[in-house]
Amino acid sequence: MNIICIGRNYDEHARELGNEVVRGNPVVFMKPPTALLVNDKPFYYPDFTSDLHYECELVLKICKNGRYVQPEFADSYFEQVTLGIDFTARDLQSKLKAKGHPWEIAKGFDNSAVMGQMISKSELTQENMEFKMLKNGEVVQHGFTKDLVFSFNDIICYVSKFFRLHVGDYIYTGTPKGVGPVKIGDVLEGRIVTKDGAEKRLFQTEVK
Ligand code: MG
Repeated sequence: MNIICIGRNYDEHARELGNEVVRGNPVVFMKPPTALLVNDKPFYYPDFTSDLHYECELVLKICKNGRYVQPEFADSYFEQVTLGIDFTARDLQSKLKAKGHPWEIAKGFDNSAVMGQMISKSELTQENMEFKMLKNGEVVQHGFTKDLVFSFNDIICYVSKFFRLHVGDYIYTGTPKGVGPVKIGDVLEGRIVTKDGAEKRLFQTEVK
C-alpha cells in the first residue's frame, strides 16, 4: 500500500512557509505504511524535533488499480475520502531542504500520517469540499477544494504515471494555510462539512 502526498497544493500555504507557488507539475513525496496513525490513537511527540507542525489534508482512498489514468476516468479512482494530518518535523525539514536532501525523515516517520474515518464523496459537495482543523477547540485551518492548485483528478493522472495505483492506496492532497506547531497536551480534530451543511468529525488525536 502506498501513501502518496502532494506538497504546496494551496497557494496561500506555500506563501506562509516562504515557498514559491507551484505551477506546472505537483510536488510529490511518499510516506511509508508505518506512518499511518488510525482510530483516533494518541500521537507521541518524537524526540528528534522541537518544531512539530500539523498539516490537515483531504485524503483520497484509491478504489481501482491503474496506471497512466486518463483525465476522463480519474474521478472513478476514488469513492471515499477522509481528513488526515501530514505531521512534519519542520526544523528537520528546513535543514534537509537547505541541503537539497530528500525530506522523508521529516515527513515519513512513524505515526506521521494521521487518518480519519472514511466518508463517501457522495455525502459531500464534490465541486467544493470544505473542511476544518481545530486545535484545542479553535479552528486553525479552514480549507476549500476550489483553492487547490492541482485538482484531485489532476493529481491522480500525474502520480499514476510514476506509481501504479492500487486499491487501498491513499493520496494526501495538500494542506491549506494555517499550519502551525503542536505541543504535548494539544488535541487536534478534523471536521468535514457535508452536503447538508453539517460538520462531521473524522479524526481526533491527542499529542502526548
Ligand atoms: Mg502536507
